Amino acid sequence: MRVIAIDGPAGAGKSTVARALAARLHLQYLDTGAMYRAVTLAAIQREIHVEDRELVAELAREITIDVDNDGVFVDGVDVTAEIRSPEITGAVSVVAANSGVRAEMRARQVAWAVERGGGVIEGRDIGSVVFPDAELKLYLTASPRTRAQRRVAEAGGNVDEIEASIAARDRYDSSRADSPLTTTDGSVVVDTTGLDVEAVLAHIEALIASLQS
Ligand code: C5P
Repeated sequence: MRVIAIDGPAGAGKSTVARALAARLHLQYLDTGAMYRAVTLAAIQREIHVEDRELVAELAREITIDVDNDGVFVDGVDVTAEIRSPEITGAVSVVAANSGVRAEMRARQVAWAVERGGGVIEGRDIGSVVFPDAELKLYLTASPRTRAQRRVAEAGGNVDEIEASIAARDRYDSSRADSPLTTTDGSVVVDTTGLDVEAVLAHIEALIASLQS
């Protein structure tokens, strides 16, 4: 299996970089955040309280989630746009802190990679917990202001409010008991502040080349 793990806080450029890197390396790409978002949406749609750990974990085990180039599907229904709503973004960290949900998502992420012989996989705990033996473990970050500005460029909104909301999400993701967002042994921190996607990709490709030589 050839796995490139990309972790880091919200807005660090993980998805853009992971997608482009996967294309260059002829690997498939998995956005694991979309899986946690999908569980969150499914809970809200069924009027299950996101704090109800047992019911949400049971739901996570029951639903099918497909994340591919065409979008994100829950039980065959396209939820690609809905999982990016502010309501889901505001609730997802609570669902992602649920150990039952995480155990199920981790197992599915490993199965996804085994089926495909690996992939470029991005999230919060990919290098630290899910694929500790990945070929390359990257921790992408950027200044809070830069991350907020990128989100505003993508989806609009007020930069101060977005900076505050991603800071709150990062705090939650970094302080939970089960697989918190963190750098890990052997991970390479890449600060993307002031760098465009091409520059980040060139840096990562140089890292990969140095591992192979
Ligand atoms: O990457 P994205 O912002 O879509 O992730 C949404 C949320 O899913 C994160 O804030 C985090 O709470 C959770 N997540 C996680 N572990 C992952 C990927 C995402 O806990 N591997």
